[in-house]
Amino acid sequence: MKDVTAVSSTQPDKYLLNTPFGSHRLRRWPLIDNDALQAWDASDELILIELAEQHSDKLRQLEAMGQRILIVNDAFGALSTCLNQYGRCSWGDSKISQLAAKYNNNNQTDNAIVDNHLQQKNNLTFVNSMSLPDHNYEFVLIKIPKTSALLEQQLLAIRNLVNKDCIIIAAGMSKHIHSSTMKLFTQCLGPTSSSRATKKARLIFCEPLSNQKEKSTIPPRIFNYYCQEISNELISYANGFSKNNLDLGARILIDAFKKNEHPRSQYLLDLGCGNGVLGIAAAKTIIHKNNSEMTVDFIDESFMAVAASRENFNRAIGDTAQCNARFYVEDGLDNSDNQYDWIVCNPPFHRGNTIETNTAKKMFSQSFRHLNSKGQLWIVGNSHLHYERALQHVFSNHKVLFKNHRFAVICATKTD
Ligand code: SAM
Repeated sequence: MKDVTAVSSTQPDKYLLNTPFGSHRLRRWPLIDNDALQAWDASDELILIELAEQHSDKLRQLEAMGQRILIVNDAFGALSTCLNQYGRCSWGDSKISQLAAKYNNNNQTDNAIVDNHLQQKNNLTFVNSMSLPDHNYEFVLIKIPKTSALLEQQLLAIRNLVNKDCIIIAAGMSKHIHSSTMKLFTQCLGPTSSSRATKKARLIFCEPLSNQKEKSTIPPRIFNYYCQEISNELISYANGFSKNNLDLGARILIDAFKKNEHPRSQYLLDLGCGNGVLGIAAAKTIIHKNNSEMTVDFIDESFMAVAASRENFNRAIGDTAQCNARFYVEDGLDNSDNQYDWIVCNPPFHRGNTIETNTAKKMFSQSFRHLNSKGQLWIVGNSHLHYERALQHVFSNHKVLFKNHRFAVICATKTD
């Protein structure tokens, strides 16, 4: 996709980030016309200023030593793009972050480093959260994630990847950095201190005590609960949604599966699947009623979510029924050619720390395109978000299957 936002000569370019490493035009992903939100925050800027002011000599040596910078949880690729003169490994749980980083790194022209030779040599690699980056980092830059369990898992893994002289700098908005965050760094890595707040953001400095050669690999942390609604235990990984109990919205949607007539479904999709509970519950409903052959797909933009869905599907349904499953880490249905009879969805209404309904609305439009004739999308959402209006707009019909002061379950049918 091409960035077609016009830059007026009189107005400042709101997507341009000026840093000691050059000026870079950065966009959030997916691209939205006139996106009011920036692809970076003040904590990205603090990291870049700190690197330039305190570590320029060590940065200069990086290339000669054939070493790289490990960048963790780079939401829209701001850090990896601004540091594109160095070798970088970007590690995180989000496919959307990877897509944003690829877009922003490929989209640099003015003011950015354009020395092809340098760029080719100092490439950008991605490692997803279900794998570990390899060793050999002189710098580790960490954006503090929303979930402390994810941060803990990442810090424990980093302990095994670095030597004592590695520079570890973390950053986040001050409101997301608590004394427990500092404690976690100290416990997992070593002595930790923080900067004063600047533009409501802070840096965390950490001196790793350990030496990578002494350590072994730590398995990913697993969370679980027994889900009465599907009579199975469900697992989640550290960044999972509702890891310790069934989300209330999901419970209400599953209840609606049992109380209402669902469409005849050979192809079922759990869109934004989290740990896969909705897809598993819907598949069980179909198997229970029809016992016919079917395929259920699970899509999420989180690598940990899709890994948990796979594990949960195998445990709850596995080979015991005539039910195939496919698993995709994707930005919704963006890269899909599949068609469905029934799509079930408990859409996200956060992006990182920002509340937004654009992703949900995009999922509704994608669902319309990927439903067979007479296929249905069933969603649950907070009542105050009034998703019935968005569904009516896309499908020209909707039916409220359940509504109370907190949640609404709505079904929309693709008519000819
Ligand atoms: N279906 C699960 C449930 O009901 O417990 C999870 C629902 S949670 C409200 C929304 C899920 O959508 C999260 O797992 C999130 O990672 C996923 N998500 C957010 N944006 C997405 C996108 N663009 N494409 C695919 N999944 C996305």
